[in-house]
Amino acid sequence: MNLAERDQQVIWHPFTQQKNRLPPIPIVKGEGTLLFAEDGSTFIDTISSWWVTLHGHAHPYIAEKIYQQALQLEQVIFAGFTHEPAVRLAERLLPILPGNFSRIFYSDNGSTSTEVALKMSIQYWWNKGETHRKKILAFKNSYHGDTFGAMSVSDRSVFTLAFHDFLFEVIFIDTPTENNINSINAIIHEHSGELAAFIYEPLVQGAGGMKMFEALLMDEILNSAKLSDIICIADEVMTGFGRTGSLFASEYLQNKPDIICLSKGLTGGTMALGITACNDRIYEAYVNDDKYKTFFHGHSFTANPLACSAALASLDLLMKEECLNKIRWITESNKQFAEQLIGYPQVKDIRTKGTILAFEITLGKDEYLNSISTTITEMVMTKGVYLRPLGNTVYIMPPYCITESELQKTYEVTEWVLSELA
Ligand SMILES: *Cc1c(COP(=O)(O)O)cnc(C)c1O
Repeated sequence: MNLAERDQQVIWHPFTQQKNRLPPIPIVKGEGTLLFAEDGSTFIDTISSWWVTLHGHAHPYIAEKIYQQALQLEQVIFAGFTHEPAVRLAERLLPILPGNFSRIFYSDNGSTSTEVALKMSIQYWWNKGETHRKKILAFKNSYHGDTFGAMSVSDRSVFTLAFHDFLFEVIFIDTPTENNINSINAIIHEHSGELAAFIYEPLVQGAGGMKMFEALLMDEILNSAKLSDIICIADEVMTGFGRTGSLFASEYLQNKPDIICLSKGLTGGTMALGITACNDRIYEAYVNDDKYKTFFHGHSFTANPLACSAALASLDLLMKEECLNKIRWITESNKQFAEQLIGYPQVKDIRTKGTILAFEITLGKDEYLNSISTTITEMVMTKGVYLRPLGNTVYIMPPYCITESELQKTYEVTEWVLSELA
């Protein structure tokens, strides 16, 4: 049996209907933006392997740092103990995060980082004895992860359908436009006394289809939330670490969050790690003689030293002028390509924000399960490019190490698939 056949005997893949599924493609190696398949074919990973890979696959600098750390200390219980990589990473991140952050809480992934943020916010009000603050505010079309709290604050969709009876109540508001901003502010005002927190993906909603909205309008919402003392949670799991052109999407906003969630690009996409950072307002509510006011949350691998070392190495690479220039260059190239796409009749809502480019394809039904997505993936892979549309939303979000010829090829193959589908 080959690897794909062995896989099909024993593995259950995420977001994948198991009936009549296609055999998975064995990947034997990664280098830069390229994925190498067992059969010798290569693919440009234009979506950074689900938005995580920043500096390319199997980056030797990050690999070396993980290896060195593995020889030194691979894991230690994080209650009562600490270690250099965890402290160093917190020291380096806190000054560059968008807001007055003072504490880093570690967990394992994006979903745990939002779970932690929600629990931190809810218990904040409980610790203060203000128990009427029980509801969470979130955007329609949002995605904050797949665990129960994260699902609850994500918009109800095909992802959450089987679980609706088990999800807690959330007040959902539209993402802002000139037309609805007043009614959104009115909703916040109306519920201000019962809202514990507002969780939002700043400026780009990832899994909801790379939907983008204006910073000025977002600031108005945050302003209303702040006036009502609602804890603001920026979920920058996807937008963090340069994706939107600046280091964090919240940098485009005047109103900074009280809590920020990070994962995905945090380790350059090499290891699983989540961060929930908070400011002193939140932290001080937990510093108390009353032991009941402790934050009782943790994971076996909290602040895993290997993952923290990977994050430190990724930060080294990210902060280099060379990498920041690449982010600017991808941003500019995307804008030009967006212009070029305007002529295609089956394309609409072309948009870019930093290294993210997205558009809607007007073929088939407008829904996540639209088979056009699979068709596009299969077609572009025959040309050595990997795209994975979210339903009708085609998007490109490459690792920052992508070369000029690879980005050009990505654009060309995207245009090719559009003309083929015409
Ligand atoms: C991917 C994502 C998550 C969930 O992260 P996982 O590591 O997949 O659990 C949460 N929020 C946003 C905005 C994301 O894009």
